Amino acid sequence: MLTETPASKVNALRRCFEGGETRPIAWRQKQLAALESMLRDNEAAIFEAMATDLSKSQTETYATEIGLLYSEIRHARRHLKSWMKAQRVSTGLHNLPGKAWTKPEPLGVVLIIAPWNYPLMLALSPLIGALAAGNCALIKPSEMTPSVSRLLAEMVARSFSRSVVQVVEGGVEETTQLLRERFDHIFFTGSEAVGRIVMRAASEHLTPITLELGGKCPCILTSSADIKVAARRIAWGKTLNAGQTCVAPDYLIALPGTSEVFKREFTRQIKSFFGEDSQNSKSYPRIVNDQHFDRLARMLSEESISYGGQSDREDRFIAPTLLENLPVDAPALTDEIFGPILPVIEVADLKEAIDHINARPKPLSLYLFSNDTDEQRRVAEATRSGTMLINDVVMQFGTTTVPFGGVGSSGMGQSHGKASFDAFSHHKSIMRKPFWGEVKLRYAPYTKRQERLIRLLFGR
Ligand code: NAD
Repeated sequence: MLTETPASKVNALRRCFEGGETRPIAWRQKQLAALESMLRDNEAAIFEAMATDLSKSQTETYATEIGLLYSEIRHARRHLKSWMKAQRVSTGLHNLPGKAWTKPEPLGVVLIIAPWNYPLMLALSPLIGALAAGNCALIKPSEMTPSVSRLLAEMVARSFSRSVVQVVEGGVEETTQLLRERFDHIFFTGSEAVGRIVMRAASEHLTPITLELGGKCPCILTSSADIKVAARRIAWGKTLNAGQTCVAPDYLIALPGTSEVFKREFTRQIKSFFGEDSQNSKSYPRIVNDQHFDRLARMLSEESISYGGQSDREDRFIAPTLLENLPVDAPALTDEIFGPILPVIEVADLKEAIDHINARPKPLSLYLFSNDTDEQRRVAEATRSGTMLINDVVMQFGTTTVPFGGVGSSGMGQSHGKASFDAFSHHKSIMRKPFWGEVKLRYAPYTKRQERLIRLLFGR
């Protein structure tokens, strides 16, 4: 049998799309139902693959991968009919007696490129939006989580027609080949560096893109906060998936009077989650591979560790760690950490915290712990970030009704719920006019009187 080329795969998807079968709501509901059944029928295999690739516990896998997908699918199925509806818009006086509306229509064949850190959820969450909007899709999962990638390819092949959804496994070479093809949208989740490569390739075909990228997500702690609750929530966000989460709190900016209590409470919470030795806890995941382990291990210098710091390369274990007194050019303060290490920096006041954030690339998410509405308003107004969450971390990501996405170097475009549907739709404007009601005003030969009337029409 001849092996399929990227072009033949895209062609199969394109034929299906152009045949028109993806337009009706019944087709879209059927695909979303098939996706849900695929997940329900394979939960045990998903738990196993996730444990193999990331040592993720069953509970964490359910909460952050499968459960999130179920809630996205349910939300899309419930609201699809209203999302697909045409929206009336005004025509303006000069088009009367016409009518105008916008109608979402599918884009065509879309490419979804996923990272390794939530290897199932970040491949399938965009697929929900793509199918709901009536597209055919090709998914390229990450080669860094090979068990999940393999399982995803097998599940999709069993659950979907190859003219509707396909999976192409592989790394740089396979993705480079795919990027030569013409797609109608590319949804990329991953690093800033690869985001640039994807954007460059998309420009060849003028393909629109969504970029869900990374970066550092700062966390500000003020003395008005409930520091105990703040420390518990930050400790959770920093150790979820061992900190390998795009929206994990990256570092803490502590205002006067907060850092000592925070460090004490953070340590207490880590012990209550994972016991005295987190390496023995079944709830604590591991670093994805040796390369990422080595990168993180280099961030641990003896003199800056105020808690944790233990590591074991054989086991790819890095303990939940607090760092302090780092030089400003330390990698933990300049690069995205993407691991269970939390640097704490102290500032004199809220202005210094805001200035620190504004002097750096726009974060994907910004977290503020404060009970003072004036402080909340000041930070919201004075900073730029993809999303902002007050008094918690990460939770904005898993909420279908809250659009999610970066800004500037943390990405472009939004997803989740209706935002995903919109990302994969073109809201086509349609205007209809009758043959009667002809106004001669716009036709030559032009006169001064016409100009006066046209000026009136445009309001001056
Ligand atoms: P990555 O950019 O290395 O890889 C992402 C995908 O791109 C993978 O499928 C990979 O095979 C492919 N790829 C890698 N190099 C390529 C190249 N040279 N040419 C073409 N394709 C290539 O990212 P990663 O390490 O898998 O994921 C971690 C990054 O993703 C972090 O920066 C994190 O913050 C970010 N992230 C963002 C979000 C979000 O929603 N904004 C979610 C998760 C992760």
